[in-house]
Amino acid sequence: MPDLYSLPGIDHATIIPRKQHNISRQAISPNALKVLYRLNKAGFTGFLVGGSVRDLLLGKSPKDFDIATDASPEEIRQIFRNSRIIGRRFKIVHVRFGREIIEVTTFRAHHEASNRIDKHVPKRKIRGLDSAHTNEGMILRDNVYGSIDEDSLRRDFTVNALYYTPNGFSVLDFNNGMQDIVNRQIRIIGDPVARYREDPVRMLRAIRFAAKLDFDIEQDTAAPIQKLGDLLLSIAPARLYDEILKLFYSGHAVKIFEMLKSSGLGQYLIAPTLESIECCPPAAAKMLHLALENTDQRIADSKSVSPHFLFAALLWPLLCRKREQAKRDNQDQRSNFLPMANQVISTQLAITAIPRRVSYASRDIWEMQWKLEHPTRRNALSTLNHTCFRAAYDFLLLREAAGEDLGRCGQWWTDFQLSDTNQQEKTLESLSNPRRRRRQRNKGRKKINPGTSRHNHKDGI
Ligand code: ATP
Ligand code: MG
Repeated sequence: MPDLYSLPGIDHATIIPRKQHNISRQAISPNALKVLYRLNKAGFTGFLVGGSVRDLLLGKSPKDFDIATDASPEEIRQIFRNSRIIGRRFKIVHVRFGREIIEVTTFRAHHEASNRIDKHVPKRKIRGLDSAHTNEGMILRDNVYGSIDEDSLRRDFTVNALYYTPNGFSVLDFNNGMQDIVNRQIRIIGDPVARYREDPVRMLRAIRFAAKLDFDIEQDTAAPIQKLGDLLLSIAPARLYDEILKLFYSGHAVKIFEMLKSSGLGQYLIAPTLESIECCPPAAAKMLHLALENTDQRIADSKSVSPHFLFAALLWPLLCRKREQAKRDNQDQRSNFLPMANQVISTQLAITAIPRRVSYASRDIWEMQWKLEHPTRRNALSTLNHTCFRAAYDFLLLREAAGEDLGRCGQWWTDFQLSDTNQQEKTLESLSNPRRRRRQRNKGRKKINPGTSRHNHKDGI
């Protein structure tokens, strides 16, 4: 096992011994510990770093365990047969243990720090001095390797740059991260503007961590965000899609939504939502709020969440606004639904990517609202068996909870699901088919349709 004190860059660290912190090995994933010990055995040094150390210090259970090491990606790959190198912009090694993936990264240095790399790190570890910036300072590739102190400076926030070693069980702090944990604040490492220019997504990360940890964003870290939001325009739509999911699945979606609004960053991420929410029917705005609350609750209960539900909810205010407009223009709601839904989705696609399977499923949720509002003998069972039924039904319940008068059809579907086959048959008997209804209406006979008499609203999609 290499001596910790001979590690290049260690002289810049404040070393916090086991007695002065609360991280116990018991709370660390056994697989992460396995990786750390195997790296040590192979003559390298490995540290737990990032969110796992931060969360353990805060007494929370980490989402995942990231490791930083002085071994190069290729060396890591050789030590672990169950690993593969991913990424081009940042080379990362994924070590897989069943469903758990431990992310291992080589210490990185700043591009200008290559002199220091020569000084600190043996030549064999300086592989792939491969980096690139845009003219605006944005990092395109970042595979310059260095020492641990340099690695800490490349990280985003001080609380994310604490290193834990099972070799003596200490925490290494190069940027006063421990103090910021105590003060509960998110502070960027280095010059905020330069760091946001390097990677504008750090602004979204600042918001996410502040909401998730209930921390403040330190003044100088927060100050440039209002002005620099438009840097997000240069981020790849696929990355912004990932960030939306991380933000809204942080367990604090309601708070995140407010922070996106107040920071001005929302304009570059969920503009269609923010613009339509001001002038959509009040129940649609309320529905979105309830959907975000519901997402937070599901995360707290460790229940699954699905991106198509999230996007269906985020874009619901815009769809409702368009629907109102179409109604005012006397357009046919049903035949216009598909183009309208596609239009709504494309407004979001102008900002972020949405995988096709997600956008199609969001559209299904919307489309199924009509069927749920108007169950007929013919469509009730197929609606119930549709792959999107559960999501569409949950969506319907939230619409009702938000104050939409849907003739209590949510309750109808709740009862229908709970009924046995015989009861379902009976319920179906009492419903009429749409075609017969039309004929009856044409004959001027009185409508006999429990479905429509119960659902006497006319605002369906
Ligand atoms: P989470 O709880 O969401 O996993 P995390 O802090 O572990 O939080 P990750 O996205 O898993 O976040 O990243 C791991 C670590 O890598 C971070 O803690 C940070 O040190 C570093 N990092 C990640 N993204 C960036 C970035 N854009 N700029 C600088 N450092 C970053
Ligand atoms: Mg992490």
